[in-house]
Amino acid sequence: MSKGTVSINAENIMPVIKQWLYSDKDIFMRELVSNGCDAIRKLRWLVSNGQAQVDDAPERIDVIADKEKGTLTFVDNGIGMTEEEIVKYIAQVAFSGATDFITKYTEDNKGEDAGIIGHFGLGFYSAFMVSDKVVIDSKSYTDAPAVRWTSEDGMEYEIEPSDRTERGTAITLYIDEADKDFLNLWTLRSTLEKHCAFMPVPIFVSEVKKPEEPKEGEEPKKPEEPQQINDTHPLWMKRPNECTDEEYKEFYRKVFNDYDEPLFWIHLNAEYPFNLKGILYFPKIKNEFSASEGVIKLYNNQVFVADNIKEVIPEFLLLLKGVIDCPDLPLNVSRSFLQNDGYVKKMAAYITRKVADRLVTEFNTKREDYQRYWDDIHPFVKYGCIKDDKFYDRVKKALIYKTTGGEYVTLDEYLNKNCGDEEEKTVYYASDEKRQAQMIKLYNDQGKDVILLNTLIDNNFISFLEYTERDGKVSFKRVDAAADSLTESGEVSEEARKKLEGLFRKAMADDTVDVQLKPFKDDGLIAMITVDEQNRRFTEMSSRWGGMDMKLPEKRTLVLNDKHPLVKWLQAAEENERTETVCAQVADLAEMARQPLVADRMVDFLRRSNALLTQLIENQK
Ligand code: ADP
Repeated sequence: MSKGTVSINAENIMPVIKQWLYSDKDIFMRELVSNGCDAIRKLRWLVSNGQAQVDDAPERIDVIADKEKGTLTFVDNGIGMTEEEIVKYIAQVAFSGATDFITKYTEDNKGEDAGIIGHFGLGFYSAFMVSDKVVIDSKSYTDAPAVRWTSEDGMEYEIEPSDRTERGTAITLYIDEADKDFLNLWTLRSTLEKHCAFMPVPIFVSEVKKPEEPKEGEEPKKPEEPQQINDTHPLWMKRPNECTDEEYKEFYRKVFNDYDEPLFWIHLNAEYPFNLKGILYFPKIKNEFSASEGVIKLYNNQVFVADNIKEVIPEFLLLLKGVIDCPDLPLNVSRSFLQNDGYVKKMAAYITRKVADRLVTEFNTKREDYQRYWDDIHPFVKYGCIKDDKFYDRVKKALIYKTTGGEYVTLDEYLNKNCGDEEEKTVYYASDEKRQAQMIKLYNDQGKDVILLNTLIDNNFISFLEYTERDGKVSFKRVDAAADSLTESGEVSEEARKKLEGLFRKAMADDTVDVQLKPFKDDGLIAMITVDEQNRRFTEMSSRWGGMDMKLPEKRTLVLNDKHPLVKWLQAAEENERTETVCAQVADLAEMARQPLVADRMVDFLRRSNALLTQLIENQK
């Protein structure tokens, strides 16, 4: 037996590893299983190059829990290690044995299978996070005798001959008291499923159980077969043209536990300029808030790395659900490095581009389907546009708007149909089809379409469009924002307007309301109330997004129809109780056309209406 101490400042490194891992202890499973995968791939590589000859036992990794002994063992039938190799690779934290392997075996074949380098940095030593003692039994594919390495703290170790007879490595963890839960089959399986669900070598989980004493006259029960927990050929590794819709949907159900079908998906499959594979799904969004429940799982050579790494995947794409496998990412480096890494940036841009291109293709080739999805995907697309100029530039051809008539139009289509060659173009929209029905009808009667913008993102989105599109020549106005296209030009008497302003300000008990007098295109309408668009948007945005209630006073305008007999009558009428009642009623009706009255005002309105009806009958008497 020989003894040694792990070199390279292990004393300094171990505490760091322990602390770093504390929040996510179960990562040790990923590390040990992926080391096993690497060992198997190395052997496969040697065999395919004629540098090793082995039996043709199927490649596999076994994870075996033994509650009685308190051990968890990871067994692989890979390349194995000689004593020298254990001392060199295992005993030297921060020394990547894989690098050595590559240079040794691929002199004339540089970089060939460089993917086998485990980029995770934590490696084997993470085993000490959950163990009182770790034992490695390994037998190299060469003739070297089997060897056993034992260590209690990851720093001091003992080496002795091992009784292992099969090629490969068994790593036995004597699980410490605090982490005994890992010996539970259920915990074990779900942890492995989380990290290893798509690793490229079959992984089997089992439990060592004492065989039950057979009851009298019965055959002894056969021990349970170990169960394979992973899918070694995940769909994203296949070529897109070899996958069926049903496979994509099945994969989605399995990976995301979402039984709603995805709307559509993008299969990324690039070798150049990035080695990147993956599938991104557009999920069906149940309501606006569930949009934030997307999840993108990141893999490195089929090894799960993490969910939703913002540095690699553009933030707005995190609303999607998907998997991305990127073997070239330097994942062992810090997140701040990832943020500033040119490669990562380019990759994120590439993913964004693919998503935008796919949307445009859907729009161009399957517009009807696309229109059906639009209600689900538009918050995501709009968010992407605001967040990322490049995404907007690519996708803008495929941005559509739903009209209150149920059609879907692009901005150009809307402008061509509704704005002719006006210099300053206005898009009219409604935020609430029911409440604003009267105003919508007024526009429709003038032959103008109204689009529906009724999601949280819309205010920001239209402000963004106004800023970006056509040098500010397009503006969006809610149907109650201005009366311009509902009125005619024409001279009105300023004196009459002033008088009406006085009457209405008094009746509405509001000294600030602007009163305008204009001939309306719709003869039957008496008045309407408009509210300044920018002002309203600002108030809405600050209360919705900022959580602060910065209510600017509403800039309201009461526009009166100069052509209406009642307005004409008011211009000539004496100021008395009757004119005041008429004015109050007119103002309330105009307000109700755009939004429900506040409680007190509603009570007043109803009382006044009742009185008016009663008067109507009394006048008849
Ligand atoms: P990394 O895998 O990042 O190189 P590790 O600390 O996990 O770092 O492992 C160090 C080295 O030990 C590996 O590169 C490999 O050479 C060797 N090793 C670890 N586990 C095994 C195994 N199961 N079979 C063969 N070699 C192994």
